[in-house]
Order: sequence, then structure tokens, then C-alpha cells
Amino acid sequence: MSTARPDLTQRFTTPWFAFLLAAGGGAILAGTRDPVTRALGLGLLLWGGLLLLARIRAYRSLMAQVLAVLPVEDKDEGLLVELPRTWNALEQENLLLRTRAEAEDQIRRQILTHLNTGVVLLDQDRTIRQFNPSAQALLGTSSSLGLGDPAVAAFREPESLRNLEQASSGAPLEWSLKRNPRSLQVRATPFEAPLQASARPWVLVTVDDITRQEALETTRQKFIANASHELKTPVTGIRIAVENLQEGALVLPEGEDSLRIIVRAVERMTMLLEDISELSRIETGALRLEPAPLRLGSFLEDLLENTRPQALARNVAVDLDLPGELAGLPFRADPLRLAQLLDNLLSNAVKFSPGGSRVTFGVRREGAWLVWSVADQGPGISENDAKRIFERFYRAPSVRGIPGTGLGLAIVKHMAVLMKGEVEMQTELGRGSTFIFRLPVAETKI
Ligand code: ADP
Repeated sequence: MSTARPDLTQRFTTPWFAFLLAAGGGAILAGTRDPVTRALGLGLLLWGGLLLLARIRAYRSLMAQVLAVLPVEDKDEGLLVELPRTWNALEQENLLLRTRAEAEDQIRRQILTHLNTGVVLLDQDRTIRQFNPSAQALLGTSSSLGLGDPAVAAFREPESLRNLEQASSGAPLEWSLKRNPRSLQVRATPFEAPLQASARPWVLVTVDDITRQEALETTRQKFIANASHELKTPVTGIRIAVENLQEGALVLPEGEDSLRIIVRAVERMTMLLEDISELSRIETGALRLEPAPLRLGSFLEDLLENTRPQALARNVAVDLDLPGELAGLPFRADPLRLAQLLDNLLSNAVKFSPGGSRVTFGVRREGAWLVWSVADQGPGISENDAKRIFERFYRAPSVRGIPGTGLGLAIVKHMAVLMKGEVEMQTELGRGSTFIFRLPVAETKI
């Protein structure tokens, strides 16, 4: 019952009630001549009027308070009228924006649901915050994902967990994963979550099924290995037959030019087949390194001995830059493969250098690395070509007239990886190029 009073008070002081009082009073005043009734009408009119005035004053004082806290300079009278309208408009706009945001959120969720790529979002505590059905399907039944689960529910392999940690503090990381019967490619990217002030970034993980690509890649590698192997026999046959013809003086003078063209074509085919099968042996894992103890000085002598005839023929000087204390350094490496890698760099430097220029072959030690460098004074390599020279069959358009297969540097790159080394190139157009190969030193006793 204690609430009845304020309710009644509110009801009888509403603007409508005040208006009715005033209107009623006015009607009585106009409709009668009886002085007592007119006095009653006048009283009602005054009461309603005063009530209305009080409401207007209360409204104005409320508006004055609102305006006092609003950052509005011009607190003019019109604003008192405009404010409720503006308020309504803002509410409408707010509603519209909320509806739009909800629709966009729904679109985003649907895209995530229909994506073939698996997506898992981990927060700073490595807890699953989001995932899509593809992530669940690809990671398999042994991983049962749920919101709030730890990362290990999705990625139980120690390597995966290590990579997730690493990715959160640096650049994106990629690795492959076997989840029978599938092969998966996983990519972890640091993720700045909006409105989340946290010391550690979140991690966005995407998972792709690469089973089919892997099968195609294996088929490609097998095809190349078989084709290059099978082609070697007939090409050798042609070369022997041509050599017999040349030696046997069975060819008329008019046919000698054609014979020379055949010899050149066969030489080029032999070179190509050798490079292709070498690359395919590395790619298929058929090429195994056979490390042996070596001494740096004598290894370099043998290597330069091989390069000398080509350098002489092109009138290019090859200098060796080897610090004296390194000459006797014993180390372990596969002599054949290391020589093949360096020979590729040296013969390129000599091949692309102008006559009369110099190639400097240097070796130095940097901590746990032996750093080999081949610097030439050749034409250099344009920025566009530099991006592609380690690709199979890529040759810069400017070297079209110079023989080559475009496979040498691809072999160098693969072989460097096989030796756990790194290869890089620095170049300046018109001034020359330097190829650098870093090999982890495995010291040994000889
Ligand atoms: P190839 O030497 O048979 O053409 P490579 O794979 O060894 O193939 O080299 C690829 C390309 O890289 C070359 O065709 C050439 O355009 C460029 N290149 C490699 N080494 C050098 C160099 N020392 N100077 C300038 N260009 C080079």
C-alpha cells in the first residue's frame, strides 16, 4: 500500500490531467452565467494552468541539466525542442547498426562454416576461441574440438605445439602433419584480437588437406625420373653413331654442317638430361650424401683445377681468397656433392663474365659456418630476374645466347638444403654478382 500515494500523485500531475483540468475549467466558464459555477470553472482553469506551467518548468530544468553535461556550445532554446527528436533518431540509427552488425556476423559465421580450409583460433592462453567444421573434419576423430578446450585437444604432436608457441611471438610458421589417411598443411599466424589487451598475441591456425597435391607431386617426380632415365639410352646411341660417322669419314663435305648441328643438339640434350635426373634424384630423396673427412686447402685446389680450362677459354681470371689459417682446416662433407654445388656457381660466374674480368672465390669461417663466396664482375642480375633464378628452367632473357639449361641454380638450392646449408645472392646491375653458400662446419680429425 505504501506505493499507492506516489502513483496517485504522479497520475494527477501528468500533462494530460493538467490539460483536462484547464480545458474543463475553460468550458464551464464559457458555458454558464451562474457566478458559483463560473468561480468553480475559473478555479479548475487556474489549477490546470498552474500544473501545466509546473510540468514545463520541470521539463526545462531537466533539459538544462542534460545540456550542462553535453559538449554543446550553443545551448539555445531550439535545442530543447530538437533534443527529443535527435534522441529518437539516434536510437533508430543504433538499432539499424546493431541489426547490420548481427547480419554481418552471421555472414562471417556462414563463410567459416562453408570453408574447406580448417580454421582454429587460439587465445593468449592457447585456448580454442573459434573453430569451424572443416577443422574438426580434417584433424580427425582423435581430436575432438570444443570452445574453451586447450590447444592440445586439436594439435597433440609436440612439433605442432612448439610451432604454435613460436608463431605467437614472430612470423607465420608452416608445417605438415599426417592424420591418417590425410596429409595436412598447417599454418599458424600471430593474431591481434580486437579489444583484447594482452601481452601475448592470439594465434590463427589454418589447416589444408594436401593429400591430392602430394600424390600428384610424387607422380610428377616419378615421371621425370623415369623419363630422363629412359631418354638417356637413345641419346647416348645417337651420340655414338654421330661420333662414328665423324671419325669414319663417311660423310660428304656437304653433310658436315648438319653433323655438327646434330652433335651440338645431342650435347645439349645430354646436359639437360643429366641436370633433370640430378634434380629429380634430390627431390625424390634418392640422392644420399656420403660425408667424408676433407682438408680445405687440397679440396679447393682440386675444385679450381676443374674450373681452369673453362676460365682460360673465356679469358677470365679466377682468384682464391683463403685466409692462411684455414688452409689446413679439416672438415666433413660429401666431396662430390659439395664440389658439384660450388662448381655450378663458379662455372656460372665464368660463363656470364666478360673476357678480361676477374672471379674471386673466397672461403672464410663465421662461427659455426664455413662461408663460400663466388664474386664476379659480370652483368649483374635485374631485380625481376633475381626473384626467379633459383626456379627450375628459369634463365634471364639477356643470357639467351649463352648455353645453359636453367637448372644449375635449382640444383644448387636443393643441394644446399640437403647439406643443411643456405644459399643467397647479392647483385648490382652492370657491376657483378656474388653468390654465397653457408655450410654448417662439421669439424673432424684427419
Ligand atoms: P644456366 O646457367 O644453365 O642458365 P642456372 O640455373 O645456373 O642456369 O642460372 C639461372 C640463370 O641465373 C641464368 O640463366 C642467368 O640468367 C642467371 N645467372 C646465374 N648466375 C649468374 C651470374 N653469375 N651472373 C649473371 N647471371 C647469372
